[in-house]
Amino acid sequence: MNNYDDAKQTLTAMLEELTERLAHIADDVRHTDQPAEKDFAEQATQNENNEVLDQLGNAARTEISLIKQALVRIDSGNYGICQVCGEPIRAERLKAVPYSSMCVKCASKTGH
Ligand SMILES: [Zn+2]
Repeated sequence: MNNYDDAKQTLTAMLEELTERLAHIADDVRHTDQPAEKDFAEQATQNENNEVLDQLGNAARTEISLIKQALVRIDSGNYGICQVCGEPIRAERLKAVPYSSMCVKCASKTGH
């Protein structure tokens, strides 16, 4: 019987950090949205910045949903088991990526 309290703590901490980061990203996007007299070059740079921030936001949101799913799996006793083939996920992989839902074999097959 595995005890995933450590993983749960790690995941919860990651979730908090990401939620905070996402809030900051949203703040940054809002701030750069303010209309101001700017020349075209500056405006273009700003649009690029917003695009980068958008991408960061999307990445954070994806990670948050993966972490939430992992936390659900811990509570339901499915954590650490590959969602594709049902084999146990190696401890080293779980340590590196605590929200892994696939074993290395299946992950490499599906390209995740
Ligand atoms: Zn698998």
